[in-house]
Amino acid sequence: MHRSGEIWMAVILGIIFLGFLGYWTTQRIVGGPNRHYYQRTKTDNRGTIARGHYSQAELEALTRLTHGSQYHGNTSLDIVATKYVYQLDGKPLPNIVGNDGVLQLYNKSKFMTTAMVRDAAAYWNHLAGVKIVAVVDNQRLSDEVIHDNETQRGVLGRQSYNGQGLVFFPPNWHMSGLSAKDRNNWQEAALIHEIGHALGIPHLGGGPLGGNAASAGILTAEFMAPWRPGRNPLGVRSTAADAAALALAGLSWQQPRRLASWVLTDPGATVIYNQGRLTSTIPRGSES
Ligand SMILES: [Zn+2]
Repeated sequence: MHRSGEIWMAVILGIIFLGFLGYWTTQRIVGGPNRHYYQRTKTDNRGTIARGHYSQAELEALTRLTHGSQYHGNTSLDIVATKYVYQLDGKPLPNIVGNDGVLQLYNKSKFMTTAMVRDAAAYWNHLAGVKIVAVVDNQRLSDEVIHDNETQRGVLGRQSYNGQGLVFFPPNWHMSGLSAKDRNNWQEAALIHEIGHALGIPHLGGGPLGGNAASAGILTAEFMAPWRPGRNPLGVRSTAADAAALALAGLSWQQPRRLASWVLTDPGATVIYNQGRLTSTIPRGSES
């Protein structure tokens, strides 16, 4: 009698252990780095640059484009061409592209429609000259998830890098009085902006943090800086600084890629989003 009690206890403990093992496996291997499943690819925080994709002269030309001026560009990127690191004011610039060199996004946001997310992906693919952002229809195939939240005060959207994915805060958007076109362009600009952060691009509003324009309350034409529709009635227009920043970010990925190198020879080329329409003068398929 006593003996069979011990056996039963061992069986029960065994079942509990197997249950725990199953839960652990689900969370760590299937579930990804967080239980909300919002970011399935680990943040890449190395902050280093792959050599050999550009000559020294080309790297210097790219950092001249990202250096910018008082309210434009980001001077922290200068050291890409001198120390071959990818840092913002001494700290590694993260990305969550993963080791396949393509950022896979899954959309759960109601505020940002999946059609808008597809346009944002196409925007970045135009800029890169090759496919670097894809919209997937299965959350398990994504690097991260776009979703809505209501908790953060005063923020329109955020790339968390900490497992919470790409978050938008619909209650913080005050869009009454704006035309349908301006609302749409503003949301799309924010979407393109936050995806830019996921790709590893910092703010491009001037100075070592790219934050000069924001600190001074200045609205810009840069979608990686304070962008508002009133300042940009023709939509979201890319600049040479955006393209050069993408070129540098691509070198920091786990699978480094040569991107947007057209900017070295044709810095005036651009991609424009205006109310659901994409136009581009960038040579299509300019990278492989
Ligand atoms: Zn930002």
